[in-house]
Amino acid sequence: MPVAEKLPDARGHFGQYGGMFVPETLMTALHELAAEYERAKDDPDFQSGLAQLLHDFAGRPTPLYFAERLTKKLGGAKIYLKREDLLHTGAHKINNALGQILLAKRMGKHRIIAETGAGQHGVATATVAARFGCECVIYMGAVDMERQALNVARMQFLGAKVVTVTAGQATLKEAITEAMRDWVTNVGTTHYILGSVLGSHPYPMMVRDFQRVIGEETKAQILEREKRLPDLLVACVGGGSNAIGLFHPFLNDTSVRMVGVEAGGEGIRSGKHAARFQGGRLGVLQGTKTFLLANEDGQIELTHSVSAGLDYAAVGPEHSYLREIGRVEYDFATDDEALAGFKLLSETEGIIPALETAHGVAHIAKVAPKMPGDQIIVMNCSGRGDKDVAMAARHLSSSS
Ligand SMILES: *Cc1c(COP(=O)(O)O)cnc(C)c1O
Repeated sequence: MPVAEKLPDARGHFGQYGGMFVPETLMTALHELAAEYERAKDDPDFQSGLAQLLHDFAGRPTPLYFAERLTKKLGGAKIYLKREDLLHTGAHKINNALGQILLAKRMGKHRIIAETGAGQHGVATATVAARFGCECVIYMGAVDMERQALNVARMQFLGAKVVTVTAGQATLKEAITEAMRDWVTNVGTTHYILGSVLGSHPYPMMVRDFQRVIGEETKAQILEREKRLPDLLVACVGGGSNAIGLFHPFLNDTSVRMVGVEAGGEGIRSGKHAARFQGGRLGVLQGTKTFLLANEDGQIELTHSVSAGLDYAAVGPEHSYLREIGRVEYDFATDDEALAGFKLLSETEGIIPALETAHGVAHIAKVAPKMPGDQIIVMNCSGRGDKDVAMAARHLSSSS
């Protein structure tokens, strides 16, 4: 599949997906960003500076861990976990935040803005802004601020200003709209650190490239350990950055299957979910053309997931493309299945996963027992579950 690996094209298209659907006032800034990124990508100083920060500040490389007890318990394929949960700030998001702040510095932009839903991307952004002495403003929905009070406090301790967004449903979608408005107004001084493989070109490409380190390390680690490639890669998919980071370096390895796991919420039939590939449709949201959850008039529908990081109406455009060409498969796990996965990994391996990650665990629990013992699964452990302990306790106590 040499073609898939080379995308997007110069205007950000992955087949019919992606592109640049933004107000005219942002076009110049996006073209500037794309051009600067192209230069940075080929600049050995930029790459070595980033590699050093990933190593010393974020804690890379992360281990590839053989989950021996989980493997025994499920009784099928050998299961490995890529331990992104061990990174500074607790998830893969720091990989992208570090890449983007180095880019902002190159462009002479010292004011950083971002949006956040669960607060994880806000924390990663506030962290790198503090590290580089930049002013930092984070937009967050009022409802999310209440649900994620711990992360709000973390961002504030890191010196960021957290702006409450009360419009609409007062969650992530509205926070992104407000961040875009800020960017339009202050684009001369400000860089917008987007948190997933979403939005206008060049973000889906750039964020993917900053997350590819996950898959590159995984490939080297599994080859050293098992002397062969894995049979199956599994990752949860919100916007899709941790998944594409794991998958992308394996796209040309046709023997490797890949499954992205979306949030099935209370079930697809209930309508309360965030599984864009289950009944979603093609549309444009916040800069990009992709699969999203909308009604027949194009009105964006409400989404639901027990995990805030998967709770968004659109999926990254490259995922829509990889699904269309049949290279990556997409499944979903419900809230209840994810909560069971949360318990399963905690009890068998002593690793409390993020509720997002627990959707991947739920998928493995379904497929691993059906696979022979000489097959290998690698799951991306995208984040740790400290942030979710209260939520999980509430759900698990009420259901038992
Ligand atoms: C944000 C987040 C996700 C979802 O984002 P992607 O861009 O789909 O990776 C998944 N896991 C964790 C731990 C997160 O914080």
